Order: sequence, then C-alpha cells, then structure tokens
Amino acid sequence: MSEKLSFVSPTANSPWGTYLSQVDRVVPYLGPLARWVETLKRPKRALIVDVPIEMDDGSIAHFEGYRVQHNMSRGPGKGGIRFHPDVTLEEVMALSAWMTIKTAAVNLPYGGAKGGIRVDPKKLSPQELEKVTRRYTSEIGIIIGPHTDIPAPDVNTNAQIMAWMMDTYSMNVGGTATGVVTGKPLHLGGSLGRVKATGRGVFVTGREAARRLGMDLRGARIAVQGFGNVGSVAAELFAEAGAKIVAVQDHTGTIVNSNGLDLAKLVPISRTDGVVGFKAGGDIVPNEDFWNTPCDILIPAALEGQLTAERAQKTTAKLVLEGANGPTVPQADDILAERGVLVVPDVICNAGGVTVSYFEWVQDFSSFFWDEDEINVRLDRIMMNALNQIWDTADKHKITLRTATYAVACERILMARQERGLYP
Ligand code: NAD
Repeated sequence: MSEKLSFVSPTANSPWGTYLSQVDRVVPYLGPLARWVETLKRPKRALIVDVPIEMDDGSIAHFEGYRVQHNMSRGPGKGGIRFHPDVTLEEVMALSAWMTIKTAAVNLPYGGAKGGIRVDPKKLSPQELEKVTRRYTSEIGIIIGPHTDIPAPDVNTNAQIMAWMMDTYSMNVGGTATGVVTGKPLHLGGSLGRVKATGRGVFVTGREAARRLGMDLRGARIAVQGFGNVGSVAAELFAEAGAKIVAVQDHTGTIVNSNGLDLAKLVPISRTDGVVGFKAGGDIVPNEDFWNTPCDILIPAALEGQLTAERAQKTTAKLVLEGANGPTVPQADDILAERGVLVVPDVICNAGGVTVSYFEWVQDFSSFFWDEDEINVRLDRIMMNALNQIWDTADKHKITLRTATYAVACERILMARQERGLYP
C-alpha cells in the first residue's frame, strides 16, 4: 500500500511537510482558536491541468500545471506562478499555504494561493513559452479572477508572462481585466516599485533585525544564494548601505570575494551568463563551499529546502534573511536557534512582493496610480509595523520569529474562519 494516504499527507522531507510542522509548533499559542487549526492543514481547492501545445517543430507536448487555493478566509487567493521542471502539486500546496500565512502576517486582505507548471522555460522558444502560458491560464481560468484568485510572478516567470495571462483571461471574459494578475508591465496596469519590492522588503526587515542585534551594516559580510529578482535586488540594497557581498550562488555555480563583489558588474553579467560569468571579479568555488564562506548575514533567495541541518551547522552567519520561500528545513531551524542565529522567516522577510502586488491591485481597481516614493513609503511602513508586532509576540512568548509570525498570522486567519462560520 502506498505511504501517501491522501493528497494532504506529506512525503518525506517535502516543503509541505515543513509547512505542516511549522503549523504544529504554533498550536500552543492559539488558545481556543486551535479548534480550527485543521483548516490550515489542507488546501481549500487544488486544480491539476493538462497543458498541451504544438511545439515549433510540429510535435505536440503536454505539460502538467497546478493552481492551489490554500485558504480564502480573509480574502481572495493570492500567490505567484512558478515555471520549473521539478514543480509538484505538493510543492505548490506548500507555497500556497505560505502565502496564506504571509498575507495574514502583513495583514493584507487576501488568502493564499500558488500555481506552477512542470516545464523548463529555458528550453522553450518565445512562441512556445507564450502558448504554454496562455493555455495554462485558460485552463485555470475557471478558478482565478480579480475577486477570487490573483496570480503573480514567481521563479522563472516575469512581467511579460503576466501580460499574456492578463490578456488571455481578458479575452475569455470579454473585457480588459487588469486586476486578475499582478506584476504586470507598467503600461498594462503594473505598479512602480513592484520589480524591486521583494528584495526591498528583505532589506528593510534585515536592516531592522541587524539594528536590534547591534550589527553595523557598514562592512557586514553577506552571502546570497539565488541571484534573480529577489537575491540580486536585496544584494544591491545592502551594498548601497555599505555591506560587502562576499559570496553569491546561482544555478550556474558559486563566486566568492572576501573584499566584496562588484555588483555593478556582476548583476548584468549574471543575467546572461550566470554568476560564474564574472570570473574576473572573484573565485569560482565548489557549490558546497558557499555555506561555509565566512559571513555575517546569509540570504537564501533561491528555492526551498536549501538550508539543511548540515549547512545550518556550518554557517558563520549571525542573521539569516529568508528571501526564498521555505529555504530552511525544520531541523536546521532548531540548530540555528540553538546556535543563537537569528532567522527572519520567509513569511515576513519576503512579504514585500505581495505587499506591492496588493498596491498594484488596489491601483488597478481605482484606475489611479501612485508614484514610486508613495509606494516605497507605504511598503516600508507595512513591513516595519508587521515586523514590530511579530517581534513583540516573540519576546512575550520567548519563541522564534517564525513561530511568532505564525502565531500572529494564524490568529487572524482562524478568527476570520470562526467569525464566518462553517457553510452550510
Ligand atoms: P528568479 O527566477 O528571479 O531567481 C531564482 C534564482 O535562483 C536564480 O538566480 C537562479 O539561478 C537561482 N537558482 C535556481 N536554482 C538554484 C540552485 N539549485 N542553487 C542555487 N541557485 C539556484 O526567482 P525569484 O523571483 O528571485 O525567486 C526566488 C525565491 O524567492 C523563490 O523561493 C520565490 O518563491 C521567492 N519569492 C519571490 C518573490 C518575487 O516577488 N519574485 C516574492 C516572494 C518570494
């Protein structure tokens, strides 16, 4: 008999299993609301779709796609779309659940959702990529919408892909529904500040955490894993504040320079050749060496499950800023806590993206657009208010920032669940 009893039972070492154990840790702090906790342990709705397209060579290819709406007690589903050959339904379930926690942690009027397609977009032509995007959008069109579930970019998806999604949905409903996705190009109802928002949120929360630790950002050594939208922007902001980016890893390899990498050169090169393309600016080292590079701050900003127990033992960082979703496995979390390493968890640290997505959605509905200063001031204020409340909760119960974030978020979600009551 299969070990997997139902689609909500986790497979070993899976992100969904990580999420479930994070929820278990918060139960003692939920009081009478704990009665509703099971609601967080299963997605409200999960859709699996077949995405067939005609390839440029005339063959027919089929890709598997998903959209999971984890929880909508507080508002419409919200969460990105990931294009990656290893995406699974279980991974998307975990990512959707983390969106539920994240939107509640920063108190946005959303639930949590996520989507993905099992595809390597780097192997598709631009025409094939557009076809995959449009067919997938059409297939999940039965559950998304500006008032029900609003996708956004995630790993390997971008503003162009959001524009195709918006157009496909709009064609199917007969109108122009800009509010159906966020992360769109500026002239299609996108928002200023969206591209940099997640990295900016990592910086704002990281700067505050460093201040509370008494760590001076000037001269602080930072190691960044994942140098895409989140990692590269966060690195640039920390470098502007005087920190040294001493190690960067992406899918092409790892580059280190103890004097600090020159980001003005590394960023453009990494976009075409990956970080190993900048051989002139540092030493290319084996990937595992990334984790023991001497540093003060570690920013995992690639994929889930990267910070394992073994790597948590190795790191010299005093502060971990989770740019990625779910980068730290639960055993590593315990080791870091024992070693006195402060972790600013994903569900608050990388919430800047969904916060500016929320601004984009609000601007689309009002058809009135804000300038970048207004976006950034509002973003910083929301992130700081959320972080301060979470910190107070952590201090009060003597718990980690992760458990405190779950306590604040789960209380909001389950209170909404309780007040709405069960239908029918
Ligand atoms: P991206 O596609 O722009 O960049 C991903 C980066 O990770 C790339 O540099 C890639 O080379 C690197 N990478 C991929 N596989 C790797 C591996 N095995 N080892 C090392 N590096 C690897 O994606 P992104 O938007 O920057 O997202 C990164 C993480 O941040 C994801 O976990 C995503 O869910 C999370 N996140 C993104 C946003 C957002 O607004 N984009 C918001 C919140 C959270």
